[in-house]
Amino acid sequence: MGKLVLFDIDRTLILKTKIERTHWAEAFGKVYEVDVNAGDLDNYFGTTSGFTFKGTVFQFLKDHGVSKRKILAKYFDFLKLFLKLYLKNMKKAKVVAALGAEELLRELKRRKVLLGLVTGNLEEIAMAKLTKAGLDKYFKFGGYGDETERAKLVKTAIKKAQEKFGFKFQENVFVVGDTVRDVEVGKKVKVKTVGVATGIYSKRELKKEGADFVLGNLKDKKKFLKIVLG
Ligand SMILES: [Mg+2]
Repeated sequence: MGKLVLFDIDRTLILKTKIERTHWAEAFGKVYEVDVNAGDLDNYFGTTSGFTFKGTVFQFLKDHGVSKRKILAKYFDFLKLFLKLYLKNMKKAKVVAALGAEELLRELKRRKVLLGLVTGNLEEIAMAKLTKAGLDKYFKFGGYGDETERAKLVKTAIKKAQEKFGFKFQENVFVVGDTVRDVEVGKKVKVKTVGVATGIYSKRELKKEGADFVLGNLKDKKKFLKIVLG
């Protein structure tokens, strides 16, 4: 039976993205006329870990008094400008891959495990980060942050695996992530969940949330392979 492993990106495959954050303030200011500084944004984003990109943007604008109608009407313009600015900042950014991630992905691929992404990042952003970390070649599909609800991302990723690779969905899908939200959504769509304690949550917290398996990090290749391949 084929297996599908869906990876979260931030704090799971990638530990750190050091990028100048000017794109947020500039895009919010120019498109929605919301005036914010980088410090406010950092505080705000501290509260939205596990949100999707779209979810974060919508919540932020709502909290800053922008009407739903205006949010929707200008969202496409916002995306266009945001991505342009982001990719420009990304050129100078530093991205740090999680220890063991590359070796693990290589081994999973060698063993014909299907690999996908489930991430709150937009696809362009996800791939830009993975490219900088040298991990892009392992991923051809995923569920991305252009949806507001994280559970939908998992369903989207599974659907793409079915359409593109003839994947048969039984009890053979694993969602791997660092937050309790990753675990929550995995359970919601009834796939197996692997919590990795490389973010702000400990193994115990991830387990308490109901993760089927927990790992300290991605370095223990043997243990990971045993979880997925039995
Ligand atoms: Mg994460």
